[in-house]
Amino acid sequence: MKKDIDKLVAELTLEEKASLCSGKDFWRTKSVERLGIPAAMVSDGPHGLRKQDERAQMSDINDSIVAVCFPAASATASTFDRDALRELGELLGDECRAEQLWLLLGPAINIKRSPLCGRNFEYLSEDPYLAGELAAEYVAGVQSKQVGTSLKHFAANSQEHERMNATSNIDERTLREIYLAAFETVVKRSQPWSVMCSYNKLNGVFMSENKRLLSDILRDEWGFTGLVVSDWGAVSDRILGVEAGLDLEMPGGADTDLEIVKAVKSGQLDEAYLDRNVKRILEVLFRLEETHEKPAPFDRAAHHQKAIELAEKCLVLLKNDDGFLPISPKSSQKIAVIGGFAEKVRYQGGGSSHVNSFKVESTLEHLRAAFPDLVYARGFSSENNDFDENLLKEAISAAKNADKVLIFAGLPDSYESEGFDRKDMKLPSVHDRIIHEIIRANPNTAVILHNGSPVELPWAADAKAILLAGLLGEGAGAAIANILIGKANPRGKLAESNPKKLSDNPSYMNFPGKNEIVNYQEGVFVGYRYYEMKELDVLFPFGHGLSYTTFAIGNLRLSDTKFADDSQITATVTITNTGNMNGTEVVQLYIADKTDAAFRPKKELKGFASVELAPSESKDVSFTIDKRSLAWYNVNIKDWYAASGEYQVLIGNSSDNISNCAVFTYETNVKLPLVVTQDTMIGDLLADSRTRDYALKVVIPAAVGDTFKSYNEAEDQGWALMAEAMVGYSPIRNVRAFGLKPTSELNAMIVHLNELIGNKG
Ligand code: BGC
Repeated sequence: MKKDIDKLVAELTLEEKASLCSGKDFWRTKSVERLGIPAAMVSDGPHGLRKQDERAQMSDINDSIVAVCFPAASATASTFDRDALRELGELLGDECRAEQLWLLLGPAINIKRSPLCGRNFEYLSEDPYLAGELAAEYVAGVQSKQVGTSLKHFAANSQEHERMNATSNIDERTLREIYLAAFETVVKRSQPWSVMCSYNKLNGVFMSENKRLLSDILRDEWGFTGLVVSDWGAVSDRILGVEAGLDLEMPGGADTDLEIVKAVKSGQLDEAYLDRNVKRILEVLFRLEETHEKPAPFDRAAHHQKAIELAEKCLVLLKNDDGFLPISPKSSQKIAVIGGFAEKVRYQGGGSSHVNSFKVESTLEHLRAAFPDLVYARGFSSENNDFDENLLKEAISAAKNADKVLIFAGLPDSYESEGFDRKDMKLPSVHDRIIHEIIRANPNTAVILHNGSPVELPWAADAKAILLAGLLGEGAGAAIANILIGKANPRGKLAESNPKKLSDNPSYMNFPGKNEIVNYQEGVFVGYRYYEMKELDVLFPFGHGLSYTTFAIGNLRLSDTKFADDSQITATVTITNTGNMNGTEVVQLYIADKTDAAFRPKKELKGFASVELAPSESKDVSFTIDKRSLAWYNVNIKDWYAASGEYQVLIGNSSDNISNCAVFTYETNVKLPLVVTQDTMIGDLLADSRTRDYALKVVIPAAVGDTFKSYNEAEDQGWALMAEAMVGYSPIRNVRAFGLKPTSELNAMIVHLNELIGNKG
């Protein structure tokens, strides 16, 4: 039944309206029974339900209902697979619906600026295009079940250190291109029912009271129609929040409701703002009616199986010398398994996303089923950094007696969690030490890693294989075993570059900031955008990931080699499975801007597709390239802009393995604003088609006369270059200084140039 929301708002008292703008408790909104307004319940998110158990303490983080724990976002991002994220959303949507939930608090899409951010495991990528594309599918998947999502944490919340107060100081272009772009994609494409504002300040203004972000950009520019909810406890000034467009405060409290009432009564707050916010809340609230009328049960065991299948798609094979993996159970090789993580898998991160899991698979159990004679030696614990000489001896002896060794290492729970950042990028020192010793005892060693964010791997060159399992959810054990024995083929790709060492990371000098100030000085050069620009070798690059089979990507063809403003072109490649196992490859498309109109990364991801192929099978993959694929955010026109000129399309299977390149040109009618004053450089007049001719014919001769031969006519290259620079960098006031012309002549030129551009007055 469609509700008349305007009528409802008109019928509510001031007190009732204020009460609807905050939670009743940690997880529920308030009801107004006399008008049939129900309370609704929310739950974390993002990779499984953390619905509060009715009997548990409201704030107890780990006391939620039993739910299926799917792979964390750091893992699902590695699928580079839109369908996989859509399906994950649908599964979660089914579970929310069965639990009568209103909003699932996710996805979390903050950009991985530093490997140290404690919550990187919960976030998708360092790349906004990848994060936006995948999150848009997740949101569409959940919401296809008539359950809402809460896109979080909006915005620029890329660290945990002082997260409730620190200001992220970011220039406008960087903000738009890196920290807002993924949010923009998800909002425009999938309309999440809600957006959660983050704790931090952005350029000095708390996000919970940031009108520019919560209203001007989110709603007016991007067309968001849902409600804005605060992160839990993110509200500082409640009244500023109401005005700025923060609709619902969570968990909220009686006091802040009262503040709103008082502010309206005293005239400090215009009641219209309150009505607007209440209306938005009610509009989203009543979307759940249908959901609650038709709760749909789901099959938990079937979801567990789906969690295993999804986990298999997330593993990233970082290194595999001489086809060390997979190890066939039929090969009757002696296997040694070392490391506490094999027995007690680390499969999720800590904090608000922690799921009380339904059924956790242990890797050891599954490997034992495949290799009944395997020898297990713990070597070290998955929970701490304690060294035990006896455990080491036992592990070395197991390794020496084996044909192949599998070591399971990673970050213990206490190293990586919401609430704090890591201090360094290292594994526990005991893990590194034992891995070194084992490889020395038996070089036929593979290392399987459990971490939600990059780590330094000082032994990487000596390990035969490295498999990034990451945080794979409750199906981790089965999925890892299936990959190790070759029942499944690895296909994951790194969604976050793995630098060699922390100090190589672009945010190193400014992370996590001091005294609540964090300057994002690396600008748009985040992750691979920086490493490529600096020509800095990384341990494993963005987009990297191997397979047990091989692929060839070739025959790049463009539908056209030029396009203009509102049109687009298509790039098509053919991909072939050249090995002898079924496999899936992620074809990645990057764009390089060759126009030199702005300081830009060498290339940026603008397309990807995962393609499943049987041996010898080939498929064509097509990508659309449009203006936005080329554009950067131009602060002068407050819009996305791509200059006319040449661009490259680069296609490969990793950011460092580009096998196809083609060039095309783009033509735009957008003219950048140019206001000519006496200080305008002649080079800028030459670069603009509206003023170029006049600059050549009138301004240059007047400014430099015969002193310099026009660089257009110069025969000597060196002279021509110098003359071009001298002329180009000359402000037109030199018409007076060098050309010795009267000020009146200079002024007349300025007037004429502005007329040519079309500037009024
Ligand atoms: C987290 C959010 C989470 C909320 C509710 C906050 O501390 O930042 O991501 O959804 O708590 O648990």
